[in-house]
Amino acid sequence: MKLCRYGKAGAEKPGMIDHEGTLRDLSGHVSDITADVLANDGLRRLAAIDPATLPRVEGTPRYGTPVAHVGKMICVGMNYADHAAETQAPVPEQPVLFMKATTAIGGANDTVVIPRGSVKTDWEVELGVIIGEVTRDVSIDKALNYVAGYAVINDLSEREFQLEHGGQWVKGKSCDTFGPIGPWLVTTDEVADPQNLSLWLEVNGHRYQNGNTRTMVFGVAHLVSYISRYMTLMPGDVISTGTPAGVGLGLKPPTYLKPGDVIELGIEGLGRQRQDVIAHPNSTI
Ligand code: ZN
Repeated sequence: MKLCRYGKAGAEKPGMIDHEGTLRDLSGHVSDITADVLANDGLRRLAAIDPATLPRVEGTPRYGTPVAHVGKMICVGMNYADHAAETQAPVPEQPVLFMKATTAIGGANDTVVIPRGSVKTDWEVELGVIIGEVTRDVSIDKALNYVAGYAVINDLSEREFQLEHGGQWVKGKSCDTFGPIGPWLVTTDEVADPQNLSLWLEVNGHRYQNGNTRTMVFGVAHLVSYISRYMTLMPGDVISTGTPAGVGLGLKPPTYLKPGDVIELGIEGLGRQRQDVIAHPNSTI
């Protein structure tokens, strides 16, 4: 099942993608895709609906974040050995965790704004994990039972803010528009193996990232278990599981986004995103 939220930012309606790829309106069944819909058998109730009975949505509306009101977004750093190598960082012995402010989150195709003063805005295609149940200190072998589904994420990152402004990475990860999620939440029954998904990213048609989740250092089940030891994960929380090689920071010379660029990215079975990059309105650069 592919669930989404469509329409203008702040006024999205719930939707479902049918077997032909057509967007259908779910608002006769739920008012929004919220944590409550993901938890407590809500997904099972939605799965019982025949998408052919839902009204078709005409036109090509914007896709919002596939879950409303994400409570927290936890990201995993250096989780692909080739990406750790390109950034001259050691492969971590335990997962590296950091937070992205939820105000950074946006829709799959929303415009990306280069922050004021930024000269090092970078891209990162990542497998997103959307939590479906209250998850507290769960074992690795049970961890995937707590996952509602998966989505494409672009973990946009300002490398100067992240690495040269001191303190935690959160400064370089939390700028407005730095967290496109979607277009859909794809439920776990449609993802046979989260550790065998190809993922890619292009800027202006040039492919920079071309990876597969099989080369993650710590897989999804390990990450959900590990994070739940330190904090309770709630329905609708999002984990971004790290990026493979090919980010701008790792290129020689490093290459960063500029106004007018177009980013396209996708993950096998989870859909694709496309973002226009624009300058900050108060930028002097
Ligand atoms: Zn990342």
